[in-house]
Amino acid sequence: MRNADPSCIFCRIVAGQIPARKVYEDDDVLAFHDINPWAPVHFLLIPKQHIVSMAHVQADDAPLLGRLLALVPKLAQQEGCRPYPEGGFRLVTNTGADGGQEVQHLHFHVIGGPRPWLKG
Ligand code: 5GP
Ligand code: ZN
Repeated sequence: MRNADPSCIFCRIVAGQIPARKVYEDDDVLAFHDINPWAPVHFLLIPKQHIVSMAHVQADDAPLLGRLLALVPKLAQQEGCRPYPEGGFRLVTNTGADGGQEVQHLHFHVIGGPRPWLKG
């Protein structure tokens, strides 16, 4: 179990110090809408503990991350993603500078909904 980092924006959301539009919460996991959505559905799913990135995941994180990932289809549908295969979603985890990671607390982007820029 990692300690919260008081300078981490997502730890501060977990602690209730910064508001967020929550999608789901349990003892170990939090999901909330991205503040700058890329698509009609865009929320972030995070472990509450301060795991910095996918590069910092260890073998004993597997149960936590397994539970987190198993929430994705249910939450995606709840937030308006249409069912597979016509609908679906993207699941994105940026890791490190080359991976485009801006917030240094592990998070999974769930992105979906109709994508008008692909039509016509
Ligand atoms: P990254 O590039 O690290 O994968 O993405 C970080 C994401 O966090 C971005 O999509 C950004 O819009 C989102 N984000 C950054 N700060 C906040 C915040 O204070 N609240 C919420 N809800 N999202 C945030
Ligand atoms: Zn954090």
